[in-house]
Amino acid sequence: MRDSLDLRQTVIATALDMNALGINRGKSGNVSARIDTGLLITPSGMPYADIAPDDVVAMGLDGSADAPRKPSSEWRFHRDIYASRDDVHAIVHTHSPFATTLACLDRGIPAFHYMIAVAGGTDIRCAPYATFGTQQLSDHALRALAGRRACLLAHHGMIAVGESLKAALALAVEVETLAEMYWRALQIGEPVHLAPDEMDTVLRKFEDYGKP
Ligand SMILES: [Zn+2]
Repeated sequence: MRDSLDLRQTVIATALDMNALGINRGKSGNVSARIDTGLLITPSGMPYADIAPDDVVAMGLDGSADAPRKPSSEWRFHRDIYASRDDVHAIVHTHSPFATTLACLDRGIPAFHYMIAVAGGTDIRCAPYATFGTQQLSDHALRALAGRRACLLAHHGMIAVGESLKAALALAVEVETLAEMYWRALQIGEPVHLAPDEMDTVLRKFEDYGKP
């Protein structure tokens, strides 16, 4: 997609929606969208309500940025995901409370519920901890996202990706919902996990779902 006022406004609206939907608080999360020349990403350290379209930072896939604002400190994993995943056109990163609680215990989300397939596989992995903004964190995130559209980041938060900002945001909400249900189940005990055969069936159904 081309860099445009519309797309910049959608990036800002998605960041605001994260907070309105309760999956992010303050300005800790960040949002990006793929453009022909690289990506558009929310700026570093600005409350979302104060971000104007010109504050959204256009970056090249080489990491160059040409804007008055600095890109989000997490630009590396956004850049690296676009560089290595042709299927990804938008990325939402948040510190949503339930997903982050599990991530603080170094726990991913297993197939305790069939909807786990929404992220593309039989589980949602938790990437090992690395300092925010580092290449190491980006490397860990990319590995945890292999064959998936979402992952948790240990002691940090989560990443959801998609074909559009709308899809990435909807997935982030779904992952947070699954994290909350898993967390609730864990208060009673580890829930039984669905068998790999059953998850294969669900994943096949998801591939067909919504197709004519
Ligand atoms: Zn973060």
